[in-house]
Amino acid sequence: MAPDPGLRVGVLAIQGGFEAHLAILRELGAEASEVRVPAEFEDLDGLVIPGGESTTIAKGIESAGLEDAIRAHHEGGRPVFGTCAGLIVCDDAHLGLLDLTAKRNAFGRQLQSFEADLAVEGIGDEPLRAVFIRAPWIDRYGSGVEVLASYDGHPAAVREGSVLACAFHPELTDDSRLHALFMAMTTRARSDAREGAGT
Ligand code: GLN
Repeated sequence: MAPDPGLRVGVLAIQGGFEAHLAILRELGAEASEVRVPAEFEDLDGLVIPGGESTTIAKGIESAGLEDAIRAHHEGGRPVFGTCAGLIVCDDAHLGLLDLTAKRNAFGRQLQSFEADLAVEGIGDEPLRAVFIRAPWIDRYGSGVEVLASYDGHPAAVREGSVLACAFHPELTDDSRLHALFMAMTTRARSDAREGAGT
């Protein structure tokens, strides 16, 4: 599905790699913006929670009073894409948008960061180069969680309903297929919502 040209995607800009996400989303045709305060979430079609430090991002969400805005976004069926620390922030110990438990800094303990070619469901046959930086792995996940890619026996990319998440940094390569998948989810959610509203 071609991305809708007017798709409004917010990137949570408390800390971490939000700028690279903005650049990719804009390249794919989204109206992408930094979001930091609750009012900026109101008109969003999709939300990206980037990588960085999950403790800092979680504290920032709390101190800026963003939890309700993120929950309302999610409950409205509007997609969320959490990457690396963003995946941790979506887990059951934080916002609980995903029925899974992330374990911080678990992948590549000795190496801290590494790259791997991953087969990812839903983006075509060509493997995706994934950059892991002190990446979390998924310790436990519920039956509603679809595993799209794994590395070393642990899920590295997952989807549960309208939430897409990955343990690596898809914004650090020039392969934008995961962002395109998120844009397609967002386009579909927006058109479903419009049909539901009779517009
Ligand atoms: N290790 C970081 C954390 O626990 C996540 C790393 C990342 O986002 N690259 O928050």
